[in-house]
Amino acid sequence: MYLKRLRLFWVYLLALAAIVGPCAAVIYAARYVSASQQQERAASIAADVLRRTHRVSEQMRSAFAELGTSPDGVACSERHMDLMRRMVVRSNMLIDVGYASGNELLCSSFGDKPIDLGVPSYVSGVGNVIRIGVQHPLLPDSRLLVISDAKTGITAQIHEQSVLDVSTRDAELTVGVLGWTQQRALMARGRFDPAWRQWMGDAYEKSRMHGQTMVAIHRSPHYDYAAFVAIPASEMQHHWQRIALGLSPLGIATGLTLLWVLLQYTRQQSSMPVALRQALTPSNNDLFLVYQPIVDLQTDAFVGAEALLRWRRDGGELVSPDIFIPVAERHQLMRQVTDKVLALLARDAAPFLRDHPDFYIAVNLSAEDFNRADLPGRLHEWVVNMAVHRGALHVEATERVFMDQDLVKRNLMALRAQGIPVAIDDFGTGYSSLSYLTRLEVDCMKIDKAFVETIGTASVTSHVVAHIIEMAKSLNLSMVAEGVETPEQATYLRARGVQFAQGWFFSRPLGIEALRACLADAACLADQDSLSTQASVS
Ligand code: C2E
Ligand code: CA
Ligand code: CA
Repeated sequence: MYLKRLRLFWVYLLALAAIVGPCAAVIYAARYVSASQQQERAASIAADVLRRTHRVSEQMRSAFAELGTSPDGVACSERHMDLMRRMVVRSNMLIDVGYASGNELLCSSFGDKPIDLGVPSYVSGVGNVIRIGVQHPLLPDSRLLVISDAKTGITAQIHEQSVLDVSTRDAELTVGVLGWTQQRALMARGRFDPAWRQWMGDAYEKSRMHGQTMVAIHRSPHYDYAAFVAIPASEMQHHWQRIALGLSPLGIATGLTLLWVLLQYTRQQSSMPVALRQALTPSNNDLFLVYQPIVDLQTDAFVGAEALLRWRRDGGELVSPDIFIPVAERHQLMRQVTDKVLALLARDAAPFLRDHPDFYIAVNLSAEDFNRADLPGRLHEWVVNMAVHRGALHVEATERVFMDQDLVKRNLMALRAQGIPVAIDDFGTGYSSLSYLTRLEVDCMKIDKAFVETIGTASVTSHVVAHIIEMAKSLNLSMVAEGVETPEQATYLRARGVQFAQGWFFSRPLGIEALRACLADAACLADQDSLSTQASVS
């Protein structure tokens, strides 16, 4: 009951993850993509604003140089003003140039009617008098940046828009030029946050999130100012939400696919124990055994075979033991599984064993089998009832099964005393430690396929197989190398003194008749091919 509830809890949790996971992934991806796109956008606008401001500085510099002294030595003379007009026509950034004295623009390209400029905002490090946000009487609603050369009085007026007018698409953005040392915005659309200046430190270019805002600042390497751009939190949010909306069909499709997979899986899982119980009933023939030969590496003769269970479900689907054995374990069905295996062996392997007194069949046992006091009795009874030779039956179990319990150890000893050798299966994949192995009295070690397949490769674990072989030798254990697929692996193992091997290189799992044929003559290879399809499906 408790296990059922726990399973249900996991199913709900996975269903929730199947829905929430893709949604979260879409949001994460949208935010990530949005942030990098916005970062690029802010940086490119900042670079553009800085480029325009540089153009202003250059045009202003040549205006100050050309107009610094009037051609006839008289400020605001007709010739001086004519020069001013020509300068403005040539310039695309300066809206007006003129001559100022005190707070008054005495004359400019607009004429010689004096205009009050108001008090300066500050004087820059190079001696320029700066006035920010000046309104020209001839240009209502204008905000001008007015810069006067303190020595000559030559004054340039710049319309903020000529620098700050970035595309209408970017109308929501804060854009401006900051006087670097003074930390004052020379021109700005939107508000400059002084914290951005601190955040910038001594860097010349930076574009990154500052809180919820994407900020880009590009500082001029030549002048004492920097261009800044800020994309507000609201714009950032709209942007990633738009991307998320675009990605949502993908998220929904993924979520639904995962839910569908989960549904299929739980359906299969919930129906599997019922069907497996049915298959385990004595009259049912859906479970059958195949036998994978174990080969003597010195003679290449088949000395035994491992019995491997197969399940053909209604409709012909072949289910792998890797799937149904764990289900049987979870539902405490392993005793029935072993009973079924013994029954199948009694039907097809016992007569065979009686005909081949040198041959053995190895069966896989589970923790549930080893934790029952009647295990030795059941196997002994089978050997006696079947009238097969001593040693006809071998047992395999994984390291996990042998973990410490007394009963398991007693069973282990009893089996060996009865002449049923015990092999430790899948060696190297579990808890194996040398001290644990020495305490464990088994007859044989099956070296797991995972190690065998590293033979001759550059894999980091390729040296482990040599250690395992040495370990088995030092403990006087016989060895069966599992999953041998290539002649190179066989040669290596033979050279290292491994006595037995099993794997597709020698033979796929075979039906009992094919096994019989194989032992009788070499014609078995043809039968192997027909069965290998079966084995590989499983
Ligand atoms: P196992 O005992 O380690 O069995 C060896 C597995 O490796 C078998 O898979 C076999 O078909 C496969 N194999 C053998 N040679 C090769 C090879 O050269 N290459 C590759 N890639 N694979 C090879 P199978 O038959 O699917 O069995 C899977 C597992 O299911 C077995 O692993 C065993 O733990 C369990 N099992 C199978 N039959 C029984 C059974 O009757 N009782 C119990 N308790 N467990 C069983
Ligand atoms: Ca095995
Ligand atoms: Ca194995």
